[in-house]
Amino acid sequence: MLLPAAREAIVAACQELSRAGLVVGTAGNVSVREGDLVAVTPSGVRYAALTPELVGVHRLDGAAVEAPLAASSELPLHLAIYAARPEAGAVVHTHSPAATALSALADEVPAVHYYAAMFGGPVLVAPYARYGTDELARSAVRALRDRTGCLLGNHGAVTVGPDLATAHDKSVYLEWLCDVYLRASSAGTPRLLPPAEIAAVAAKLTGYGQQPPSA
Ligand SMILES: [Zn+2]
Repeated sequence: MLLPAAREAIVAACQELSRAGLVVGTAGNVSVREGDLVAVTPSGVRYAALTPELVGVHRLDGAAVEAPLAASSELPLHLAIYAARPEAGAVVHTHSPAATALSALADEVPAVHYYAAMFGGPVLVAPYARYGTDELARSAVRALRDRTGCLLGNHGAVTVGPDLATAHDKSVYLEWLCDVYLRASSAGTPRLLPPAEIAAVAAKLTGYGQQPPSA
């Protein structure tokens, strides 16, 4: 089996996303890139029934290499991100409730907490485009420019990372950030942190929680 560790990690991540309520049913999709291959969740399989063998392996042009089922309908989104972001090793796409709710309300995630700094700048909301389309993939790539997360308008959230653990963590933090904003704004008008403070925190976070350099 190709990419066994990546496929096992994808199964574990999907089941954790499901347990945490960040995806419902068969929604959302997860991929890992290794070299010129991408392992990605199949379309329409409930995560409780997902096994490493059912996670497909595709080339960066989308051609199936070892995939018993049809790939996620958002494979074009994942491939477009890998094409635009050579440093990306994993992509997590969810329909987590707070991020999805905020994606229908805002053009960017308001800086209600300093965690807004962990995505490389304000988290933007990509204009709506129909799921599974190249238009959605292009829209997401634009919103992700210089960022490690974005929202997809009226749809959900996308996070990227050098590895799956990082992309997964970012999806949890992004959902939390959106949830905090929705709670605060439902009770009043939240004070927002100024851009200069977010930039300063981003500089401070650089290196926080990272692996030590290998050389
Ligand atoms: Zn989706």
